[in-house]
Amino acid sequence: MPKVPEAVRPPAAPRPPWADVGHWRRMREMVAVTSACWIFTGAVSDDGYGRFWVPSRGGSNRDGVVRPSRWMWQAHHGPIPGGLVVRHRCDRSLCVRPACLLLGEPADNVRDALSRDRLTNMKRTGKADRRGARAAALALRSAVLEAVHSGTSSADALADVVTRVQAAGDPYANQPELFTNTGPTTSVTPVQERLF
Ligand SMILES: [Zn+2]
Repeated sequence: MPKVPEAVRPPAAPRPPWADVGHWRRMREMVAVTSACWIFTGAVSDDGYGRFWVPSRGGSNRDGVVRPSRWMWQAHHGPIPGGLVVRHRCDRSLCVRPACLLLGEPADNVRDALSRDRLTNMKRTGKADRRGARAAALALRSAVLEAVHSGTSSADALADVVTRVQAAGDPYANQPELFTNTGPTTSVTPVQERLF
């Protein structure tokens, strides 16, 4: 992934008290600050969360890959007590803005998912992004990267990009008409009939 321009990264200082110098530098290179959320633009996992490699300290996984949101919470507040999870107030899985993150029980995350109708291992209903979690996250990442690399540095403009990309996955918006009461809108020409 191309690095995020310095102008839109989180402030370099003060460094979060629990952040390793090198990890903080690498994290900042991948985060675009908007007036709403901070969007992680590094690797994305199948569940739509980011992947941040922390080789020296490891993480919840043996290969040292942690969720960027989890890393960011820990960087600000210290080690996460066993069994607890980092939740998003904003419901944006790529967000690492400290103010958007809060600690909770795994059951809280399930409740969040249920209340937002997006539990992925159950039937997807209602408000779940119609692109799926990973595709939605990839769309957000590429839109943010495209904006910052084409010179957008206003935090408000970047927040608009985030809102627009999110709206594109809204299951209630911009749905194509599946049925129409006005009869067929296309007619099959003799040429097409021969192809069938
Ligand atoms: Zn956020």
